[in-house]
Amino acid sequence: PIRVRFAPSPTGPLHIGGVRTALFNYLFAKKNNGVFYLRIEDTDQNRFVPGAEAYILEALEWLGISPDETIGKNEKFGPYRQSERKHLYKEYADQLINSGNAYYAFDTAEALDFHRKQHEEQGKTFIYNWHNREKLDTSLVISTEETAKRITYGEDYVIRFKTPVNETLQLHDLIRGDIKFETNLLDDKVLFKSDGMPTYHLANIVDDHLMETSHVIRGEEWLPSMPLHVLLYRSFGWEAPEFAHLPLILKPVGNGKLSKRDGDKLGFPVFPLDWTDPISGEKSSGYREKGFFPETVINFLALLGWNDGTEQELFSLAELVDKFDLNRVHKAGAKFDPEKNKWFNHQYLVQQNDANLAKAFAPFLTEKGISVPEVILIKIVSLIKERAHFVSEFWDLSDFFFVAPSSYDEKASKNWKEETPVLMQELISVLEEITDFTSLNIETIVKDWMTKNEIGMGKVMQPFRLSLVGALKGPHLFDIVELIGKEETIKRIEKAID
Ligand code: GLU
Repeated sequence: PIRVRFAPSPTGPLHIGGVRTALFNYLFAKKNNGVFYLRIEDTDQNRFVPGAEAYILEALEWLGISPDETIGKNEKFGPYRQSERKHLYKEYADQLINSGNAYYAFDTAEALDFHRKQHEEQGKTFIYNWHNREKLDTSLVISTEETAKRITYGEDYVIRFKTPVNETLQLHDLIRGDIKFETNLLDDKVLFKSDGMPTYHLANIVDDHLMETSHVIRGEEWLPSMPLHVLLYRSFGWEAPEFAHLPLILKPVGNGKLSKRDGDKLGFPVFPLDWTDPISGEKSSGYREKGFFPETVINFLALLGWNDGTEQELFSLAELVDKFDLNRVHKAGAKFDPEKNKWFNHQYLVQQNDANLAKAFAPFLTEKGISVPEVILIKIVSLIKERAHFVSEFWDLSDFFFVAPSSYDEKASKNWKEETPVLMQELISVLEEITDFTSLNIETIVKDWMTKNEIGMGKVMQPFRLSLVGALKGPHLFDIVELIGKEETIKRIEKAID
């Protein structure tokens, strides 16, 4: 059975790259009738940030891609928080020691630093592995008795993986294809520390095994860990899952990975939800609060590194589940495009039902002390939404429906001629006579009057619009007239000619 996971470390708000990883796991699981589970990897207590876990869960829920199994939900393989599985890992570290695949090391930070510096001076990188260690300093290779003694005396130790020597690993990644790694170039990574905590590598492999993970789908930054992970599975005698490393998400301009800082720097969010750092108080803005629809975020994230092979750009979540295919995920990095993301939001905004948009707009009006009947608001929203990317733009696109203009656009006022006040006065008389005050009827009557009196269109229409809106912008004029009503229309024209 297909079982995939999203395994974030709660070190802060979930970056958009993490959300993309979660989404691709979700899509792959749903497409294959599998299970998508979420595991919190919180073994590094120094990097633990309160609130981050709740943020991650809330973000996935907002996006509609909540896990099938996680903390407090179908805990079939629980606990799903690694800090609560602490007691499990030592046994596995011991197992590797006993099988000769791991060893105790007592190197001090100073000793390691010394070697690192020495290598640097010679222009080399210090690779800490068994192979080099023996060559480097045979005194570091200690007997089993000596090791046992040091542990009993309470000396700090780490357990390191004993990378096999002189081996070429042939690995396969579902996205990158075949990859070769030379084991002599791999560090003997720390698996376990004397404080009783496993490192990411050990906990991740043990849990992926115990939780019966079939596919590991994660960001490209984890590709360098793949040989170690495959070797760990082999050392345990376990079958390794399949691996798929997703391409990097790149900055919108220039090269390089999109960073958490880029968003605030360039004025667009890179987080799903707003976040305030509990320690520094630093704020980062999120897509939800900026007015993005969850559908938008799902859509543009899906296209960061994947497409269905056609020109289609708009995909619902259900459609993505249907079409998603790991074979169509690209190797090359995917450029993040904030402008395009706004375009996506516009596409979803116009698809929304007008009553819902009116509901979303209403609080903006309440804040200004304006109350409007729902039916009117729905009509207004239907007239302006074509021009908006976000509901937050509605006010600027529609303020004239609610308040009379307090000033008139200077350039447009040039159309205000000597004869204009007289014409506007006549227009008022025409409007006063209309009983069925609806857009099309008003338009017919006003245009008839202009035709009969041979008055040019521009001579009336532009000053008319200017009087109502304050500028030559906005939707169809007679729709505005109908919505603000006869009385208000006349009042505004009178004010303009005053
Ligand atoms: N805890 C790791 C992270 O924060 C998980 C990486 C993996 O998926 O193996 O991304």
